[in-house]
Amino acid sequence: MIRVLCLCLACCLFASSALARDVEVMRLTSAPADNTLASVRTAEATAWVEADAIRKQEQPTWWRLQIAPGADTSTEWIVALKETYDAELVAYLPPEYRAQPISIFDPAWQQIGSRHRLSLRLAGNDASAPIYLQLFNGRQQPMQVSAAPLADYIAVDLDRVRFTSMILSALLLLGVVAAVYSVALRQWHLLLFGAWVMSAVIYVLVMSGEIVALLGDSPLLRHAMRLLALSINLGMVAVYIFIIRFLSIREHYPRLARVMYTILGVIVLLIGVSILDPRTLIANQFVNIAVVVLALLSLGVAAGRARAGSVHAWFFLGGWGCLTFAGMTRAMYFLQYRGTPDWLEIAHPSAQVLGALVLVLATARAVRHAERELLMARRVAATDALTRLPNRNQFDDDLAELVQQAEEDDQQLSVMFLDLDHFKAINDRHGHAIGDRCLVLVGNILRRHVRASDLIVRYGGEEFVLALEGAGRERGMAAAEELRLAVEQEGREIEGRAVHLTVSIGLTDYRAGDQVESLLTRADAALYRAKREGRNRLAVDLST
Ligand code: GH3
Ligand code: MG
Ligand code: MG
Repeated sequence: MIRVLCLCLACCLFASSALARDVEVMRLTSAPADNTLASVRTAEATAWVEADAIRKQEQPTWWRLQIAPGADTSTEWIVALKETYDAELVAYLPPEYRAQPISIFDPAWQQIGSRHRLSLRLAGNDASAPIYLQLFNGRQQPMQVSAAPLADYIAVDLDRVRFTSMILSALLLLGVVAAVYSVALRQWHLLLFGAWVMSAVIYVLVMSGEIVALLGDSPLLRHAMRLLALSINLGMVAVYIFIIRFLSIREHYPRLARVMYTILGVIVLLIGVSILDPRTLIANQFVNIAVVVLALLSLGVAAGRARAGSVHAWFFLGGWGCLTFAGMTRAMYFLQYRGTPDWLEIAHPSAQVLGALVLVLATARAVRHAERELLMARRVAATDALTRLPNRNQFDDDLAELVQQAEEDDQQLSVMFLDLDHFKAINDRHGHAIGDRCLVLVGNILRRHVRASDLIVRYGGEEFVLALEGAGRERGMAAAEELRLAVEQEGREIEGRAVHLTVSIGLTDYRAGDQVESLLTRADAALYRAKREGRNRLAVDLST
């Protein structure tokens, strides 16, 4: 982590110091000399205006770049152009001043270092001679120019490449994690988030020029900026649909959610325009404004939800806040047609990684939370509220498991039906509350008498079923008798009232070929016999 921070810091420092010095940029109001440039080295560009950066004009323009006087021009120098992307440029370099088309996305263009910049190399002898550039086509966004001795440039460039590799690795990893989560947890909306991460990967690849290494000679490369516009816009639509769900905006602010969906719909329409012409300014500007609006709306919602105590929203504010800040700063530069500062090249992708990481963590947390709630809900649904014994929801499956186990392992199993005697009369005489206390008492007695491997369930109103694993008829009878006696003794008096609670029990044991239904039917028949024979007794099923 410290290494990463140092690297980022180094990038920022180098970016702002070593590469931002020692070059003078002049826009020429006319072509130098007679436009042949054959002897331009001696030609004087008489009329020029100062400019901080090379910018698209109505007509093709000429520019003169020169290492500032006073700089050490005895070594090789690199004059670098930032953010040229798909601009059509022709460079004339000393000493020959041959016309040389240069382009970040042209695999035929060979240059020193990575393609984060267009780098023009000047030999030691020529470092003080001017470079001429002709700009035919470009973006409204200015291209910034810097110069540095070759060694300095390479050092900074290497750091930048390392940084880009780290960002790409982190984004790809988070994208894979999101995709795995999405499939494994059936959280399909995470695929939208994964799509955004992949668009961020494409963004970094194109912005760093590394897409050239990936696509090689592919004709797709000529459309790199269109690919970028398409992926970043689709990615943004995907991530805001994800965020609307992530922050539960539809549930809490339904009208706002509709506004956000409308903005997203318009963006989708404009994506079509951008595909046809990536330089369409109105479409691009609208998308930039839409980013700012959507970001502010989401942050506003998150702030509100965070104040209401939502941990989820705090996560969002932390992770997405940084990304929003970086994204909005970038959008502001674009909206004003200003060149973006170097620190933003580090801050923006870093914020993308941070935002992605935080959203993945928050989603994992939300999924864990939801799982815990589901587990709780299942437990509540399977428990009888009065006696705290399991209810019938899970019982049939559990008993089926015991029956199967008895069959496979040739084990014994006994099942008993218990029914409180004349319970209606107890209710009528002492009231429902006392009736309830009786049920709780019987529940406690049953719980006390069974082992963890046994099954116990409140089967109905005042009926209970017990399945004793590994117990044959003899052991079952002993247990049933114990229970009957316990109910008789402990149920004599409840809250000072003589209730004389008793229970009748029907018992049966597992026989080959038995199913849940056959066991319960026989136990119920035995219970019926116990009732008939006078209650407060155990009847054992002896049928074969
Ligand atoms: P028998 O000895 O033949 O089983 O007679 P019984 O009165 O126990 O049987 P019956 O099926 O006629 O009545 C069962 C009663 O159990 C009726 C109902 O009011 C009562 N009961 C069922 N569930 C609850 C409960 O949750 N709380 C209370 N207090 N009573 C309940
Ligand atoms: Mg009954
Ligand atoms: Mg009864």
